[in-house]
Amino acid sequence: MFDFNLKNELDRTSGSQSDDLGPPVNWQDSLKSCLRTHSELEDFFETDIPQIDYAVQIPRKLAIKIKRSKKGSPLWNQFLPSFLETQDEIQRAGLADPIGDEVHHQDGQIVHRYHNRLLFLPTKNCAGICRFCFRKNNIENDSKIFDSNFSATLDYLKNHLEVEELIFSGGDPFLLTDERIAYYMTQFSENTLLRHIRFHTRIPTFMPERVTDKLFGILSEFSKKFTKINIVVHINHPDELDHEVVASIKRLKDAGVDVLSQTVLLKGVNDDPLVLKSLIDKLLLAGIRPYYLHHPDRVKGGMHFYMDLEKGRKIFASLRNLVPGWAIPQYIIDIPGGQGKTNAFNPESFESSGRFITKDGKIVKINYQ
Ligand code: SF4
Repeated sequence: MFDFNLKNELDRTSGSQSDDLGPPVNWQDSLKSCLRTHSELEDFFETDIPQIDYAVQIPRKLAIKIKRSKKGSPLWNQFLPSFLETQDEIQRAGLADPIGDEVHHQDGQIVHRYHNRLLFLPTKNCAGICRFCFRKNNIENDSKIFDSNFSATLDYLKNHLEVEELIFSGGDPFLLTDERIAYYMTQFSENTLLRHIRFHTRIPTFMPERVTDKLFGILSEFSKKFTKINIVVHINHPDELDHEVVASIKRLKDAGVDVLSQTVLLKGVNDDPLVLKSLIDKLLLAGIRPYYLHHPDRVKGGMHFYMDLEKGRKIFASLRNLVPGWAIPQYIIDIPGGQGKTNAFNPESFESSGRFITKDGKIVKINYQ
């Protein structure tokens, strides 16, 4: 019954043709054959594409879906270059390091911003490149997949026993080889006190074929050695979820890990409560727990996706009326300068102003003192 409903939903919104993306391919070949150059893009999409200085990378299977969705669609806007990326008057308010990673950087590709958890960044590469990426001013699309001073990482963890959770980020950690992932997991399980491991990835959207038997085996093995392994998949629009993407997520879940979502609120992509509701409906059918809805960062080169907090709060307030409370993601914002994530929908201080937003978006004042 569950699978039947999911199939109907995927067919209804993506079309059953989403299965018809050519024969299965090896993920390393998919990576090599990504569209990267201006001429590759123009040839493939058969239209004029703006020339920009930022790196571009689109896996071919995703490119087929984008081409079907047409110019200006949410898929197109997320991955195809736009002349707006280099328009000074739009981009001037953007930052090269919008969430302040540099302030918290440690030796060993570590960002330690919160007391009991840290980011581990073993690669700067992703399987594709999102035009709004908060790391777009650092991201690379060259062939250097692996770059880690790992002994420094282990030393840091041995000196910081307060760290309970390590978050593989990047780039995309699932671009590491299976052997490299297995090596890291072995080291973390045998030589540290880490209890939880989290992977932040966009692999299901970019390259679902990366969820190989070997990766499945590694996740199965280590899901028994840590209290919790979470995989947070980055998905912004319901059209990203087709049969193949959902099958790769099911496979991750079958390995004994939990799969959660993170979504970036983006102008021209998903800045509509009904689109977000449709996304959440599909995530739930695929067994993914909605986790984060990020307010867009002020990214240099990505300001055309930005919206002010008031607009974001209104969208989130409407969304709360459309989906059950347990399915509502946390709406969060990263404060520039490395000051961390905070709830984007809360009062502005510990001290209660007495003002609350009703489900209709009205401000009411109630004295709780
Ligand atoms: S997957 Fe994440 S890190 Fe990679 S390009 Fe997209 S937003 Fe940036």
